[in-house]
Amino acid sequence: MTELLQRALAKDILSGEISHAYILTGEKRLSQALAFAMALNCKNRDEEGNACGTCLSCRKLADNNHPDVFLVEPDRNAIRIEQTRKLISKLFLEKFEGEYKIAILQGCEAMRDEAANNLLKTLEEPPEHTVFLLLTESESSVLPTVRSRCRIVNLRGEGIDALDDENRQQYLQQAEQLLQGLSALPLYKVLRLTAEWEKDREEALAFVSALSHVLMGAFKSSFGREGEFFLSAQPAAILKAAEQTQTAMEQLKANVNMKACLDMLFLRLWSCMKQK
Ligand SMILES: [Zn+2]
Repeated sequence: MTELLQRALAKDILSGEISHAYILTGEKRLSQALAFAMALNCKNRDEEGNACGTCLSCRKLADNNHPDVFLVEPDRNAIRIEQTRKLISKLFLEKFEGEYKIAILQGCEAMRDEAANNLLKTLEEPPEHTVFLLLTESESSVLPTVRSRCRIVNLRGEGIDALDDENRQQYLQQAEQLLQGLSALPLYKVLRLTAEWEKDREEALAFVSALSHVLMGAFKSSFGREGEFFLSAQPAAILKAAEQTQTAMEQLKANVNMKACLDMLFLRLWSCMKQK
């Protein structure tokens, strides 16, 4: 059995909204790429989107013998244009037996520009049912033109740590705004916050982790440095609020009822932010 898919990838499998290109960064990118490739062509996935590991397609992939999965590794420390050309011709020419053809490119931080440009044309007009998985140490090492055509999945962490920089900033800003205005909100508006975030567990987890980051930042800046308070609550209350976000994150990961968890969190944060 392969390892379980990270949430962001499992979510795409379950929704059927498969991007034609992904950039995977983070520790377990190769094992996650293989688990994703396996799940894409598995005939008998579980309800969480993971491959069964036992059907013919899964067994072929586990034996490194799946005709629709192409693994490209750096040759003499670089991915070269000869390699991308060969890959692309295989993707276009060869018939496939599974649902998807999957190209896994390892070490994309070492992709030559001409190879990246060669790949770019195919990323713009990909063959049907083809998924590119570009594995790299950091997304910023991939050419922006290539990057802009890929969905970026950071396997490093969870919550906002799993997001790309732009999304992470957006969540942090939202979290900061909420915390600054929270104590002035009437109770009924505090409870409405849950309705905003209970639709999607992944988004809720990202938002709660953003709240946690902001609160810890505020707590740390409440020592020693004058004039840097952006939350007017007492440091002890800010710390308590940060602890509440940690509890809520554990609960969200453990699949507890989202509404109950978020109601409780927003109420507790509200009460902490009022302690001035
Ligand atoms: Zn299977």
